[in-house]
Amino acid sequence: MFPGPPPERPSAAPAPAEPELVEPLPEPPSTRSKPPTVAGVRARLNAPPSASRPFVTALVLVVSLALFVYFTAADVWQTTAVLVGVLFVHELGHYIGMRAFGYRDVKMFFIPFLGAAVSGRNHTAPPWQQGVVLLLGPLPGVALGCALLPVTQLDPVVAQAAFMLVLLNAFNLLPVPPLDGGRLLEVLLFNRYALLAAATRLAAAGVLFLIAFAINATPLGVLGGIMAATVPLVYRQGVGVAAFRRAHPDLPSDPADLTDEELAELIDLLNQMFKQGLSDRNATEWVRVLHGQAVTPVATAPQVFALLAAYAAGVVAAVGFFVVHFILTR
Ligand SMILES: [Zn+2]
Repeated sequence: MFPGPPPERPSAAPAPAEPELVEPLPEPPSTRSKPPTVAGVRARLNAPPSASRPFVTALVLVVSLALFVYFTAADVWQTTAVLVGVLFVHELGHYIGMRAFGYRDVKMFFIPFLGAAVSGRNHTAPPWQQGVVLLLGPLPGVALGCALLPVTQLDPVVAQAAFMLVLLNAFNLLPVPPLDGGRLLEVLLFNRYALLAAATRLAAAGVLFLIAFAINATPLGVLGGIMAATVPLVYRQGVGVAAFRRAHPDLPSDPADLTDEELAELIDLLNQMFKQGLSDRNATEWVRVLHGQAVTPVATAPQVFALLAAYAAGVVAAVGFFVVHFILTR
């Protein structure tokens, strides 16, 4: 989930009136703070990036894994071990993709009751890179599960591992954000248009509620609630960034090079998005997000086609696996 080298700026030709790319967003703060200032945000944009802290990163992984195992431990330890292994393979793919594309602060962690995730920041990663990062989660697991199919008769643990590899990764391919399949469609197709981005998020919230109800999974319902609550924010953000992009077709690729006027406009937009106000620190993170959305070029048709073809191959492989699995175990 859901951010390499900065992409080339789109050509200096006047940008067509295009609505905006929307990414997963930092959570809005719950407390009121004084309005962010241009000087405060600029000072933070100019500050050198914080050093990576491998010890903290490793600690987060180990502690979150321990909590995950504690809360999800099945009666049979083997099942828990297989589940952790399957999640690890999935997240390792995202992790490798993010590192390859220069994401910063890349961290893998487990989430009790929900699974695991990798976080990282690269606000100017082009959509095709974001798409590759998303697909690197589920596709290797589906491929590995299918590769194990011929040997599942040999050992029940192998059979269980193959089944869980495909089941969990196929679930992540569902076209419902924030699952990887849904995020891929958002990044490639929907995020460019504020109304479509907001509608997608609302529909996803509905589907998550339905799935949560159908399989009695409260955490998925909570996720749906978060998705629903951020719909207005996504819409305001999409409209605001589209207007910003139209007004400034020649934005610099580094947010630290924005003029005071451009920075002030983004802060104005943040004040509209967050009535309760943002700290300078949060506002700076948000300025990076909004600037990234404004400068990131849209995915080209061949890129969209290639990524959707890979996505479809994953779906077909997963369905094929279940068919063969059903025949073998009947
Ligand atoms: Zn994933």
